[in-house]
Amino acid sequence: MRTINLYERFSRRFRERPYLSVALFVTSVSGGGLVAYSEANKPDELLAADIKKKRVVVLGTGWAGTSFLRNLKNPSYDVQVISPRNYFAFTPLLPSVTVGTVEARSVVEPIRNIVRKKNVNVDYFEAECFKIDAQNKKVYCRSTKNQEEEFVVDYDYLVVAMGARVNTFNTPGVEENCLYLKEVEDAQKIRRKVIDCFEKANLPNISDEERKRMLQFVVVGGGPTGVEFAAELHDFVSEDLVKLYPAVKGLVKISLLEATDHILNMFDKRITTFAEEKFHRDGIDLKTGSMVVKVTDKEISTKERKSGEVSTIPYGMAVWSTGIATRPVVMDFMKQIGQVNRRVLATDEWLRVEGTNNIYALGDCATINQRKVMEDISAIFKKADQDNSGTLTVKEFQGALNDICDRYPQVSLYLKNKNMSGIVDLLKESKGDAAKESAALSIEEFKKALSQVDSQMKNLPATAQVAAQQGSYLADCFNRMDECEKKPEGPIRFRESGRHRFRPFRYKHLGQFAPLGGEQTAAQLPGDWVSIGHSSQWLWYSVYASKQVSWRTRSLVVSDWIRRFIFGRDSSQI
Ligand code: FAD
Repeated sequence: MRTINLYERFSRRFRERPYLSVALFVTSVSGGGLVAYSEANKPDELLAADIKKKRVVVLGTGWAGTSFLRNLKNPSYDVQVISPRNYFAFTPLLPSVTVGTVEARSVVEPIRNIVRKKNVNVDYFEAECFKIDAQNKKVYCRSTKNQEEEFVVDYDYLVVAMGARVNTFNTPGVEENCLYLKEVEDAQKIRRKVIDCFEKANLPNISDEERKRMLQFVVVGGGPTGVEFAAELHDFVSEDLVKLYPAVKGLVKISLLEATDHILNMFDKRITTFAEEKFHRDGIDLKTGSMVVKVTDKEISTKERKSGEVSTIPYGMAVWSTGIATRPVVMDFMKQIGQVNRRVLATDEWLRVEGTNNIYALGDCATINQRKVMEDISAIFKKADQDNSGTLTVKEFQGALNDICDRYPQVSLYLKNKNMSGIVDLLKESKGDAAKESAALSIEEFKKALSQVDSQMKNLPATAQVAAQQGSYLADCFNRMDECEKKPEGPIRFRESGRHRFRPFRYKHLGQFAPLGGEQTAAQLPGDWVSIGHSSQWLWYSVYASKQVSWRTRSLVVSDWIRRFIFGRDSSQI
């Protein structure tokens, strides 16, 4: 195990700035003259400046980590990125990679390309972190190429953006027999397996039963990823493979298994219904209320939730896409910092890990533990009551409302969801029509007015959108860290001390898509605006093209789409 220490930092500086080596050489040869003296001073100055830099270690190069790196502009940090993946992957296009609609290389961008032009010093190490030592501010890492090569990195600030792993719910046989759809390699494996199944089923010496089994594709999980994959697979089979494998085309079957009563549960009911009907029309076998209990190398056993009936489905390829779970290294860290009875790492609203100082966590590996208004209600009342009268006028309440909304996002969410324009509406709800502009509120009435707002608190979804917004929020905090350290009071005026240097993280939902195949997509945009069909597919194309992290990937993705329109998908077994 080695430590990335001052020696390595010195040698790196010498590699980066050859004149320093010249200076050292002159010093050695001359035995230390005037020239050597003045030159030798240079590295010390430079190094002293570097040593003063705070070291930020970023774990992960996914949506959260990359968004943080792209938005970090303050050159006063020395950043070290550790991740087993030396690239960023645009995960929303992975289902398209599984069938060759888009090529794998088109959806990835090397992390070194992303940070290359930055004014911040960023180093990348291809390794995985296996232990976080919060007490000594160190992370323990292991090279991905050689598991025995371990090293330790010190940090001043740690940004944990390690994402999550696939959740198998400990279902027997899943790990051994199912494919996942989480990483680019998973998508490539699926692509190979689909073609493999078709080639095997096409062999002359195979029984009809075996042929049928080989062409039975099972997708477990009716969330957006499972649904999109099933739709992509259906398009691949019906648009391309049936022409190439005419002998077996009638035997192909795609099944989608979902444990709850409907697919796409997080979407508007109209989208769920449309998707279910479309899948029925397309011949995708949709089994809802069906829980997978066991997977063997050739069969999947399911149990009907209502009747308890167990049945088996023979399969050629099974893709498991049922959600995410916490990585072991994060679990271990949670134990260390006393977050024992939690499923996922908890942070405060500033993305700082609860129970630690300079550690931040974002993206799929963390969740924000939103503070309840009711926990602080007396302090808020006291602060808002500017004339210390023991009651609150509507004007005083109104004056505090912006700060309350800043600090507790659930308040503005509550006002928005209830279509309330302001304080009087809130008062009307608790006091009835007697609520007036001139009313003075006691603490009890104030509590009553805000008593419902905490019910609006919801965990943020594990999506790229949340992870990317958190990354750019945190980078913005880091960019302004100096300024805020000098002036510790932030915009939360009723809380003068403590952690309130920045506005808490606020998620802005920009809408979500569910591609359903056949050039049709369902879109649910802010304000519950729902659009389904071909026009939404074009919206999907333009949004996903615009969201690419570089012009290189943007042009590759767009040219892949054009290539697919003209020539179809490639079915070569490579
Ligand atoms: P990730 O993007 O998973 O990144 C985690 C990073 O940590 C990776 O670089 C990984 O290599 C690294 N890492 C892992 N272990 C270690 C370790 N021990 N040490 C150091 N680094 C480590 N979201 C949407 O909003 N819209 C979509 O359309 C959408 N579609 C999706 C489709 C698919 C197929 C999938 C799998 C996900 C999709 N998502 C979508 C969800 C979205 O991808 C995730 O929410 C998002 O990737 C989370 O970002 P993250 O940075 O937290 O984690």
